[in-house]
Amino acid sequence: MDLFEYQGKQLLARFGVPVSDGEAVESVDDAVTAADRLGYPVVVKAQVQVGGRGKAGGIKLANSTDEAREHASNILGMDIKGHTVRRVWIEKASDISEEYYASFTLDRAAKKHLGMVSAKGGIDIEAVAEEDPEAIARVHIDPLIGIEDYHARQLVFGAKLNPAARNGAIAILKQLYTAFVELDADLVEVNPLILTPDGRVHALDAKVSLDDNAGYRHPEFEDFRNMASADPREQMARERGLNYIGLDGEVGIIGNGAGLVMSTLDVVNQAGGKAANFLDVGGGAGAKTIANALEVITSDPNVRSVLINIFGGITRCDLVAQGIIEGFSNIDVTVPVVVRLDGTSAEEGRAILAANPLEGLVSAATMLEAAGRAVELAKPGGAGGSPGSNGQEA
Ligand code: GDP
Ligand code: MN
Repeated sequence: MDLFEYQGKQLLARFGVPVSDGEAVESVDDAVTAADRLGYPVVVKAQVQVGGRGKAGGIKLANSTDEAREHASNILGMDIKGHTVRRVWIEKASDISEEYYASFTLDRAAKKHLGMVSAKGGIDIEAVAEEDPEAIARVHIDPLIGIEDYHARQLVFGAKLNPAARNGAIAILKQLYTAFVELDADLVEVNPLILTPDGRVHALDAKVSLDDNAGYRHPEFEDFRNMASADPREQMARERGLNYIGLDGEVGIIGNGAGLVMSTLDVVNQAGGKAANFLDVGGGAGAKTIANALEVITSDPNVRSVLINIFGGITRCDLVAQGIIEGFSNIDVTVPVVVRLDGTSAEEGRAILAANPLEGLVSAATMLEAAGRAVELAKPGGAGGSPGSNGQEA
C-alpha cells in the first residue's frame, strides 16, 4: 500500500527524520488557515500518489495569504496524470543548497535490504540510474544484522555527498532504515533529501510503501487504507471485503477471480463496450458477497448495465444465484443485469434464476454472448436506466 507524502512524512518523523512542519487539508479555507499558522513562505503540495508533481504544477511556493489561497484553489481538484487532487499538504518552505536521493528497499534477488543514495536528487531517479548509474551508491544490508554506521558511511561517501551533509545524512539514513524495518515497509524513499544553506539535512519529500501482509501487526495501516482511497465506492467495497477498482466505462463487472475479471474486461472491449470497474468477489463467494457486490456497482451512476460473470470452482453458482436474488430484493437495481453462470452448480444456479424471474435480469450462456448483451443494453438506445423491457430469458 502506497502512502501519500504527508502520511509518509508523519511516519518518518516518528523515527526522528527531520521534516518540515505542515498540515494536510482538503479545502482552500483550511489551506489558508494552515498557511497563516505556519508562517510564510509556505509550499502548497498536491497529495497524489504519482511522482513529478512539481513539473505538473502541483507544487507551489506561497509568500502571502493571497498566494496561498490562489495556489490552493488552483491545485485542489487539479488532475495530475489521471489522479484528482483532493488534499494538499501545506508546509513551511525550505531553503535548498543541494538536493540528494536516499532510499531503502528490498532486493529480493540478493535476499537483502538495499540502501541507495545519490548526490543527484530532486530528479527522477530512474533517469539517473539510466544515464549515470555510477552516481548512485548502493549498499546491501543483511536484514538479520541491520544497519551499522559503516553502511551509512559507505552510502554517503560512495555518493560523494558534500562533506557538510555527511553527519546529518548518516543520522537520517539510520533513522530511515529503522523506519523501513519497523513499519514493515517495502520502500522508504526521500527525494529530495536536502542540505540547507545553514548546514542541516532534511527530508523534503517522502514516499513510503507498506507491506499489506504485515497489516495485522499495524492497526494504524487501516486508517491509511481508508484515507488512501478517495473513491467512496472503493472504500465501500473494501469495507465489504471486495476487490474493487473504478474505471471509466459504462458496463459494471462482477466476476470471481482476478484472471476471469480481466478477461471479462477484454471481452467487454471486444464487444465494443467499456468496463466501469473491476470487481472481483474472489473464490468461494456466497450469496451475501454477491449481493454486496451488486450494491457497490449499482451505486456508480456511470454504470448502465451490469455483467456478472461467474465460473464456479469453489464458488457455487447456486449461491451466486441466491445472492443475485437477495441483491435485487434489498436494493433498487435500476439497470439491466446480465448473468453468465458456468462451472460448479451452474445448472442449479440457472434453475434458481429461472424459477425467480427478476425484472431487468438476463441470463446468457457464454461469456461472449453475455458481454454482447451487456454492451448492447448499456447503449443510450438500450435499456440502461429502464430495465423493464428485459425479462428473464434462460
Ligand atoms: P515530486 O515532484 O512529486 O517528487 O515532489 P517533491 O516534493 O520532490 O518536490 C519537487 C521539487 O520541488 C523539489 O525537488 C524541490 O526542488 C521543490 N521544492 C519542494 N519543496 C520545496 C521547498 O520547501 N522549498 C524550495 N525552495 N523548493 C521546494
Ligand atoms: Mn520528490
